[in-house]
Amino acid sequence: MSTARPPWFSFPSHLEGLDRFEPGKPIGEVQRELGLTDVVKLASNENPLGPSPKAVEAAHAVVAGVNRYPDPQATELRAALGARLGMPVDHVLAGNGSVEIIDLIARAFLGPGDNAVISEHAFVRFRQIVTAHNHGARLVPMREWTHDLAAMAGAIDARTRLVFVANPNNPTGTWNRRDEVAALVAALPPGCMLVLDEAYFEYADDPDYPNGIDLVRRGAPVVVTRTFSKVYGLGGLRAGYAVAAPAVLEALLVIREAFGTNSVAQAAATAALGDSEHVRRTVEMNRTEMARVAGALAERGFRVLPSLANFVTFDTAAAGRDVWKGLLARGVIVRPLDPYDMKSWLRVSIGTPPENAAFLAALDAVLPGKRS
Ligand code: PMP
Repeated sequence: MSTARPPWFSFPSHLEGLDRFEPGKPIGEVQRELGLTDVVKLASNENPLGPSPKAVEAAHAVVAGVNRYPDPQATELRAALGARLGMPVDHVLAGNGSVEIIDLIARAFLGPGDNAVISEHAFVRFRQIVTAHNHGARLVPMREWTHDLAAMAGAIDARTRLVFVANPNNPTGTWNRRDEVAALVAALPPGCMLVLDEAYFEYADDPDYPNGIDLVRRGAPVVVTRTFSKVYGLGGLRAGYAVAAPAVLEALLVIREAFGTNSVAQAAATAALGDSEHVRRTVEMNRTEMARVAGALAERGFRVLPSLANFVTFDTAAAGRDVWKGLLARGVIVRPLDPYDMKSWLRVSIGTPPENAAFLAALDAVLPGKRS
């Protein structure tokens, strides 16, 4: 795409230097560009088992009616979520993926001169969205590749309205314990809210991993965001949700596109929520395979970060983008982490057993010295 600027055009100065979000490369693009047929995508933390068949069936059933606008209240989906989470329906908002909701939160709650506290190496959309809306991002260093919540509390100033935490975090996979999150919430001054991004909640099985919705239930200044893109396997449909006090959601509804989540996504997400067997199989395969992939990487001498999500992040001890290119040439798509200022690191989503085996074989071909 040409970026030549017409003489009448002046690029918004607050967007200068901001990079576009670089998503995982689509399989079709790699097949076309490299002339490969067998391509394994382990780059976007998707569900390798696919969507629930019940979600696919529900999507088919509503497609014939898409001449009608969707239900702007997402009534059935929100009722199903409310019942599942044990929350009143007025505490639940459906979105076009959870990132739409993160964007709405930044737009709604940051005014001129306000700022948001964000961790270094946190999910990059936090910083991109806050900066793109012309607000300040106060970046706080991590501790051991983990959100340092005490330091984040210390970075809050009189103009901080939002603190963003992804738990577990992407791309590190690391997480914060219940007591740490509670201490951060207790330190929030009036007028400041915690945005707790729990995109990988369903995978997180540590006993000290907190459920953010408990905080909302207790009336704490917290918005929880979750998604149907990961364990539910519906990334292509764009469905996510927020759980928060109704007054918070009301502010988001004022600025949201009127119809919200599309009708196919609403139906598929409602059905996916009901297919607990598919979720169970997904989580179980992830647990076994993540242990296998992390173990194989550690065996080869790579530093691997502990992860509660559906991916692992490891230090190649080389130029990560070069290793990424080598893997790509062998038909394995992973995620380079230079956009996160982690230049020697790669993030690999956990796939099916054959996909993970293909990844490890390709890695051994790219970095043969690592194979013991
Ligand atoms: N939050 C985090 C931490 C993520 O890793 C992702 C997926 N990359 C998202 C949100 C985005 O989710 P969605 O597809 O619901 O917009």
